[in-house]
Amino acid sequence: MSKLGKEVLIGIIPAVLAFLLYMGVNLLPVLLVGVVGFSLYFVSRNRTGGVGVTASSGRKSRSGRTPSYLTFEDIGGQERAKGELKEALDFLIHYEDIQKFGIRPLKGILLTGPPGTGKTLMAKAAAHYTNSVFVSAAGSEFVEMYVGVGASRIRDLFKEAQSRAAKENKQSAIIFIDEIDVIGGKREGGQQREYDQTLNQLLTEMDGIHTTDTPRILIIAATNRKEMLDSALLRPGRFDRHIQVDLPDKKGRLHVLQIHAKNKPIDDEVSLDRVAAESFGFSGAQLESVMNEAAIYAMRDGDSRIRQPHFSQAIDKVMMGEKTDREATMEERRRVALHELGHAIVAEEVKPRSVSMVSLSPRGQALGYVRHNPQQDQYLYTKSEIEHQIMIALGGSVAEEMFYGGRSTGSRNDFEQALNLVGTMVDSGLTGLGIVDRRMVTKEELMKANADIMGGLIDRTRELLERFRTVFEMSLDILIREEVLNGDQFRALMQSIKDKEKTSA
Ligand code: ATP
Repeated sequence: MSKLGKEVLIGIIPAVLAFLLYMGVNLLPVLLVGVVGFSLYFVSRNRTGGVGVTASSGRKSRSGRTPSYLTFEDIGGQERAKGELKEALDFLIHYEDIQKFGIRPLKGILLTGPPGTGKTLMAKAAAHYTNSVFVSAAGSEFVEMYVGVGASRIRDLFKEAQSRAAKENKQSAIIFIDEIDVIGGKREGGQQREYDQTLNQLLTEMDGIHTTDTPRILIIAATNRKEMLDSALLRPGRFDRHIQVDLPDKKGRLHVLQIHAKNKPIDDEVSLDRVAAESFGFSGAQLESVMNEAAIYAMRDGDSRIRQPHFSQAIDKVMMGEKTDREATMEERRRVALHELGHAIVAEEVKPRSVSMVSLSPRGQALGYVRHNPQQDQYLYTKSEIEHQIMIALGGSVAEEMFYGGRSTGSRNDFEQALNLVGTMVDSGLTGLGIVDRRMVTKEELMKANADIMGGLIDRTRELLERFRTVFEMSLDILIREEVLNGDQFRALMQSIKDKEKTSA
């Protein structure tokens, strides 16, 4: 039943009963049936308990590997975050020492980072590491129509942690609150009274935690938006340990892939290292999905083992969505082909050997795409590298202009990407504006800087693409006919132009 449905029911039932009572109806049989029904429902809800670490019943369940207990070894990469978390958890384990030194107990740990990086896994592993019971809830579960319901749910959560610890004979309990920003957002006074009450209740419960209490309670909260949190939550004695859980680097990605490969038949020829290199920017959840999708492709192909091409397909799918059977018109296909070739030609010129494939098969929202060869993970970019990235993004629309005299809606995402990159340049002091805070410049100044950068890069992109006009013409036929143009074929065409340029020079 939906949360809203439940709330409405809670409101309606007493009203109906009061009305019947007023009408003189005998309510005893109705009440008896109600009590029996409610008991059956309650028993069935609570039957999902498990061994060791379990999420509380009826709460968020996730796809992927969910063993009945989870250890830090089941979490790929995140070595620094795991180390910091374990160090903090030792406070819970060595509580006698802590008491001796009169140290106040660690009450809250905040895990911050992008979605799907393993924050929930960390909290579960923490429960196993400290031999605690694990109770969890998501912030959105506390958002209710009626004032006070959220606060009472917080009380219930703490009670549940205590009663489960007593039942399972454990000395400690970990309460995990995902999406804490939903209830812990900055309080601006007046509005959102319900959220305020819920947050106040959480703060009160946290203030009531003492070192001498049994079970010892630790709250682990997770958020993708730390900057949104109310300062009361972050002050010392509350969530004062912050652990950043970042997207994994290549080594971390390989580790995540290895963990999820354990129960899968992987061909000996497969290089997971290559898969890790190709999946730059993927979260742990996306890597788990790559493994799963690769296995599905292998099964669909009737193979007994998962091979490298299955991984390539799986990466494309996770990055861009499933192949769709959207039937584009011939004219659209031609435009998309030229657009993608525009991206590919610029990419190959500014980063030689970077194009792995140009494809004209629709995937997700895209009608075509360019697949790039794996690059080394990179975290710092020079001005010219960002300019090259902007030129690659603009290549599609510039190509359309060259061949059709105008752009189409197909460049929307490219422009968004290009504008974000210009924003990065402004914030990093890489533009004519110098080193500035965006708040220091007027909208007009920003727009002028933006127009200057974009204008200059559009000209450079057009100049570059004009040099390879014949590559467009030669590749177009192949793409329309075969749907794909592989990187080597494409490079050979580009090389033929360069050779011609050399001989005529
Ligand atoms: P959200 O912010 O959306 O709540 P999260 O950071 O809590 O996400 P998890 O729920 O921990 O992410 O991860 C989701 C799934 O992704 C896991 O069940 C697991 O299959 C996979 N996963 C994520 N990170 C890792 C990792 N570091 N190692 C192994 N698997 C991972």
